Amino acid sequence: MADRFFMSRKIFPGTIVITGPGADSYLLLAEDEAVMIDAGSEHGNIRAFAETLTDLPVRKVVNTHSHFDHTAGNGWFDVVYGTEATARSGKNVMGGDPSLYPLDYEYTIVGDGDILPVKGRELEVILLDCHAPGNIAVLDRTRRLLFPGDEVESGQVLLLPGYAEVPGQIHSRPAATVETYRNAMLKLRSRADEFDWILPAHNGTPVDKSCLDTLILLAEKILSGEITGSRDCSSPSYGRTASHFPNDDAGYRRAELSGVSLVYCEKLIFDTDYKNADALPPATRLHVMSAETARQ
Ligand SMILES: [Zn+2]
Repeated sequence: MADRFFMSRKIFPGTIVITGPGADSYLLLAEDEAVMIDAGSEHGNIRAFAETLTDLPVRKVVNTHSHFDHTAGNGWFDVVYGTEATARSGKNVMGGDPSLYPLDYEYTIVGDGDILPVKGRELEVILLDCHAPGNIAVLDRTRRLLFPGDEVESGQVLLLPGYAEVPGQIHSRPAATVETYRNAMLKLRSRADEFDWILPAHNGTPVDKSCLDTLILLAEKILSGEITGSRDCSSPSYGRTASHFPNDDAGYRRAELSGVSLVYCEKLIFDTDYKNADALPPATRLHVMSAETARQ
């Protein structure tokens, strides 16, 4: 059966989380249609599954970012929203078999501040650009919810480089610096009176919006040198066997504070570090694998 990969749970009024083997996706019921946030990581037809959960048509998906655990099911939908950076690597199957996935689709490009054309549910794009190049949060002004993709979550926030956009490229852009991430979290916190809950794509949902304060404080303590963290980047949900776990020579650390944590590159603390970062060694095995499955 096409839906064997997925389970669902109503989480807030008009808001359903769809879980599968990878990232969580969300189905938002609006006035005359339902819209997906992210498209799952499996080749099962997530649109067909979503359509069993509502009488509304489900035609549109918006990608929070380009990683394939969020984009694998894009091709089942009629409209796929994403930023330009998301569009450049959203079809990279990251070492998988491209023939398993529906990759014959085009992106409809969105950018910071855009409101998606969905009647009865006001969805604003907020560019964050840290966990992945072009990563967005979707602010649901109608239901007062924030969908940050992987920029905020309770397991760990990973600041890794982007994945290949063209064949042979190891990484599209160096990882975001800690300073860039701190500024992105300040941007979200400046909107905090517009949402009540944060709904991430991994490691449990929802999370309390007070975690933004803690993430900002953690980033500031890394910037001041008060916290450097551990060279052991592992956690219960992120271990050495994961293909996107940092290589030993790549210089990553895990810093933790009051239940939140950040995996960051010790060579990329301040924005001024960024200009020399192109020559950094491959961050993870997945980056090397993705160099071979970027779009032709
Ligand atoms: Zn993810």
